[in-house]
Amino acid sequence: MSCVFVLDPQRTPLAPVHPGRARYLLRAGHAAVLHRYPFTLILTDPKEAPATDATETPPPLLRLKLEPGSKTTGIAVINDATDQVVWAAEVSHRGQQVTDRLDQRRTVRHSRRSRHTRYRPARFANRRRPAGWLPPSLESRLANVLTWVARLRRLCPLGALSQELVRFDTHLLHNAEISGVAYQQGELAGYEIREYLLEKFHRTCAYCGATNTSLEIEHIVPRSRGGTHRVSNLTLACHACNTAKGAQTAAEFGHPHVQAQASAPLKDAAAVNATRWALYHRLTAFGLPVETGTGGRTKWNRTQRQLPKTHWLDAAYVGASTPPRVQVKGIHPLLITAQGRHSRQMCRTNAAGFPDKAPKATSVVGGFRTGDLVRAVVPATSVKAGVYVGRLAIRATGSCNLKTATGTMQGIHVRYCQPLQRGDGYAYAKGDAAFPPHA
Ligand SMILES: [Zn+2]
Repeated sequence: MSCVFVLDPQRTPLAPVHPGRARYLLRAGHAAVLHRYPFTLILTDPKEAPATDATETPPPLLRLKLEPGSKTTGIAVINDATDQVVWAAEVSHRGQQVTDRLDQRRTVRHSRRSRHTRYRPARFANRRRPAGWLPPSLESRLANVLTWVARLRRLCPLGALSQELVRFDTHLLHNAEISGVAYQQGELAGYEIREYLLEKFHRTCAYCGATNTSLEIEHIVPRSRGGTHRVSNLTLACHACNTAKGAQTAAEFGHPHVQAQASAPLKDAAAVNATRWALYHRLTAFGLPVETGTGGRTKWNRTQRQLPKTHWLDAAYVGASTPPRVQVKGIHPLLITAQGRHSRQMCRTNAAGFPDKAPKATSVVGGFRTGDLVRAVVPATSVKAGVYVGRLAIRATGSCNLKTATGTMQGIHVRYCQPLQRGDGYAYAKGDAAFPPHA
């Protein structure tokens, strides 16, 4: 079960509770709903909070685990003492959208400069980027993750962080190479080697260049001809090429360059992702111990347990601290989508960049803003009669759009709306459980 976050009346996070306990607290009037997403209660009755004297055991500290991805980041909160996933989420980033918006802005400004109009003097390439600079699209991904780490820290007692940092463990790779047991199926070292090869050969077949097919680890000098299991003798091939090559060496098969590519060491930097390292450095600033894991280990952990590939499950299996059996039944991940907050563009333009539309309208109508989660009760006298729950898109007339789970309703007036949660830059939905509770 996904647990419910609980805060005491002073907003100190308490141990998350089972949904049944949350229902009891609400029904008995001991707690009130603080946030709908993620669902959080605040105790109104201090007696319901566990005693805080020294004889009482403190609430168990939870571990927050992250699997950063370019489009989606998986988040899982785990209780290390009970091996239970307490809460999980997947954050969808808006990296491409940020890039598109900046491209659009650049075009408009460029056109304005060349028209010799006011306000936009010529600029020169005299701007220096500070050390550690990241493009805005990557910065936005990073900010999303850090926002959620900071929020979850306010909602539950966190004691440690885990993050997937690199694709493979060079140390383990090195040891495996020496011991020669290299790539045997099921070994952790085998998974690290596979990740290394995927990185080195760009996820393609080394012989025919096929992508999006299942790739097999292949010996450049075949085992039957005395080839070793060392990483420098391994490459990736599709099944067809692997079979066709048979007992030939790569050179005999007509691909001498493969041997050269396999022998050249892959620089650490090539497999290191700047964004993930930047995230790691900023996570350490929270003052909690940060455990790092490799992609190879995450995959190994997942495959050992025969689990489907989802971002939140991957997050739950990051790092060496992962217990042998993680309790994931009945967990519905919260699907969080970054939405941005309004547009700062003051003058709307047509496709050619010419200002021809009405000036930007007010963003606050009847106390509501775009992004607020509301419940609209439209009376029976209206053609749109009904009850709708969704995310509001403000229109200056007050007759707004409401994005519900089933679709967008147009022309819902703010006078019918009740706020459920103020816009915080994200949209929310409930994801499907990977494992239903009674399966
Ligand atoms: Zn091939």
